[in-house]
Amino acid sequence: MRTRFAPSPTGFLHIGGLRTALYAYVMAKHEGGEFILRIEDTDQKREVEGSAEALQVTLKKFGLVWDEFYIQSERHKSGIYKKAVERLVLDGHAFYCNCKPKNAKTEGFSVELRDPCRDKNLTSGAIKLRVPDDEIVKYKDFVHKKEISWNTNTVYDATLLKSDGFPTYHLAAMTDDIDMKITHIIRGHDWMPSTPVHLLVFKYLGGPTPEIGHPTDILSAETGKKLSKRRDSVFCEQFLEEGYLPEALLNFIFLLGWAPKDNRELYSLKEMVDSFDPNGFQDANPKFFRDKLNWFNGQYIRKLSVDNLLEKLELDNNQKNKSIVALIQDRLEKLSDFKMLTKFFFEKPEVDAKLFGENYKEHLTKAIEGIQNNRDLMEVVKENNFKTGDFFMSLRIAITGMKFTPPINESIEILGKEEALERLKKLI
Ligand code: GLU
Repeated sequence: MRTRFAPSPTGFLHIGGLRTALYAYVMAKHEGGEFILRIEDTDQKREVEGSAEALQVTLKKFGLVWDEFYIQSERHKSGIYKKAVERLVLDGHAFYCNCKPKNAKTEGFSVELRDPCRDKNLTSGAIKLRVPDDEIVKYKDFVHKKEISWNTNTVYDATLLKSDGFPTYHLAAMTDDIDMKITHIIRGHDWMPSTPVHLLVFKYLGGPTPEIGHPTDILSAETGKKLSKRRDSVFCEQFLEEGYLPEALLNFIFLLGWAPKDNRELYSLKEMVDSFDPNGFQDANPKFFRDKLNWFNGQYIRKLSVDNLLEKLELDNNQKNKSIVALIQDRLEKLSDFKMLTKFFFEKPEVDAKLFGENYKEHLTKAIEGIQNNRDLMEVVKENNFKTGDFFMSLRIAITGMKFTPPINESIEILGKEEALERLKKLI
């Protein structure tokens, strides 16, 4: 099995792209096959500078390492696409056209499916596919697990080579898929409508036609619409910056469109490879639930050793930091939560007296006595007939400035008796 991830360098890697790459990777690796990275940069107007390099950096962070690497603009120089398309012209499956180039939109929705140049026998210009009349083209989608077919009377004469000599996606990708012996194409759902064009191109180029699968679009849980770069946060690097671990994000998206037979949820990349089965592809559109991603991230943070977590948080490996990290590890959903949760260990809090309930001064006075005498604070609560929750809330607010904090007794221990007493005394 040979699969490929074939991004166009038109921006940074987003969640949908990462999922496509992941599925292509695990599918190939499950069979002991190869995963190929191919940069599809023949539409140079749409290229975003630096994005081809950035895509590679991001893929590596997720462990999706490729076995072979190609850049279409480089391959273009060897004349491979031109040679392929000229062959199609010779065979009568493509024709030159010198109509003014239309933009992709008007071309896609053109009422005229048949190009006016197709029978003019021109010898220069752009090159378009001569789509036959009244033929059925079909394939079985390995994601949807069903046969999909088109009558060629609904398929337009797609451009294969532009007048500037560069191939379009329809030519370059299909030529490469054959040349690179790709066995399975897995790509975004947007490409489904272009599939009849591609099936014809594969056939006319002499094939073989790879198996093709289109995973369903990921929907935003908020809008119910397809995830969008404009409305939703979708960029992988942004998630990493926000404090998501690559292995957690990968695990989460693995299950957006694929499901195992049991209800298993946690998978390392190696486990995904081992357990992958194309029958697990889902037909329904998955939704991107942020809470679920947070849950996965929490699970992965919990699995880290304290030393490892310190490193990810970019903290010095000293005793105080170690104790703090061990105390709050279970409460972190994102690495970025750390700062807020533990700020009070590193600086004196600003305490807003409005946060306190009644009797707080009494609570704090007795707490001071108790701490000074090294007593168990539960005993102090009982002796004074305090309500346990109220007493510890007063203590918590005084020490941390917040109502939600790590366990307060342990926090006082890490902070040190002196510092804790100082904070309490300041408030009465
Ligand atoms: N270059 C295409 C894109 O970025 C790739 C589609 C494919 O995988 O064939 O959408």
